[in-house]
Amino acid sequence: MADPSLLGDVPTPSDPRIHLLGLTRRQLSDVLEPWIDRPFRVDQIYRALYEGGAEDFEAMTSLSRELRRQLQDRFRVDPPEVESHQPSADGTVKYLFRLDDGATIETVDIPEERRRTLCISSQAGCALACRFCVTGFWGGGRNLTPGEIVAQVLAAKRLGPARAPSLNLVFMGMGEPLLNLENLEQALEILFEQISWRRVTVSTAGVIPGIEQMATWKKRPKLAISLHAADDDRRSEIMPINQKYPLADLLKTLRAFPLTPQEKLTFEYLLIREFNDSLKDADLLARVLSGLRAKVNLIPINPDPSLGESMRPPAPERIDAFREQLLRRGLFASIRRRRGDDVSAACGQLRAPHRAPRGFPGTTTRRRS
Ligand code: SAH
Repeated sequence: MADPSLLGDVPTPSDPRIHLLGLTRRQLSDVLEPWIDRPFRVDQIYRALYEGGAEDFEAMTSLSRELRRQLQDRFRVDPPEVESHQPSADGTVKYLFRLDDGATIETVDIPEERRRTLCISSQAGCALACRFCVTGFWGGGRNLTPGEIVAQVLAAKRLGPARAPSLNLVFMGMGEPLLNLENLEQALEILFEQISWRRVTVSTAGVIPGIEQMATWKKRPKLAISLHAADDDRRSEIMPINQKYPLADLLKTLRAFPLTPQEKLTFEYLLIREFNDSLKDADLLARVLSGLRAKVNLIPINPDPSLGESMRPPAPERIDAFREQLLRRGLFASIRRRRGDDVSAACGQLRAPHRAPRGFPGTTTRRRS
């Protein structure tokens, strides 16, 4: 499906034992079948892993000591190491995980009054090189395994507040989820047992084959599209993937995406000063999205030294004026609040600190007004 150059390598584990974290009920049953005495053991182990959060076989006290020892010899269940967890002044917590092969990923836990949102990574790094995104500046990485995706949720549950309000998942951390679709689907099969699929959002830079594939799923998470510009010229300038999947094709695919009666597609639109923030740009955006069941989430860009001077947010009045113009054109629009700024946990600020950045080769972003 996806371009192989955009996919990362699969990690080569240093430990030859089979990792059970990330296996679905059926896969777990197939793998364990030769080693267990009764079928219900599969369920015990499945629950211990995903509901009990067991990190080793010792913690699975419903199993006999002998069975635990046998399993320990052949299998492993240890989650990625939480290398740090940094609370920010506004309550947002950023987790840094070190994976088996040394790669690092970040997950952000954002508490709100009535809900809690986990921002999950799908790849260690990102090959798409969007000019406004710090993850892209650090370069491509590899796909996360289903276990590495599920482990982010388990860790945040384990280390987060004991009495947490209802949990939402957004795949807006590092990476492009639709370039890791198989692993994402497997992870979601496990996570959907704990979190309603209506509380999960997958955000994509516009990977058309992935959107088409997701459209066939029975339990479909909500879809968010990182649009950021409403014409091909400017979109290609800040999102190289637009050359492969141009706007007209993307919008055609989205028109065919099945929605439940109340559901809307979310279009994320970064506001970049003097690049895409004029009232004319708002008109163009409204025109491009007309006929779609859409809402717009306006995101004043979070600046970062690695992104350069051209990546600055507009003044607050200009942001409000842009939103009002969209409302006048009949398009629902909200403005995303910045969270976790002080620990670089805000959108587009997740990096891969285990290696040197790739940078954005040969680019200068034109300014327009
Ligand atoms: N690859 C996916 C998911 C990761 S990005 C996608 O592109 O949607 C998740 C969100 O962070 C996207 O809306 C993205 O546009 C936004 N983002 C990236 N860089 C940002 C920045 N510097 N400031 C604010 N938001 C940013």
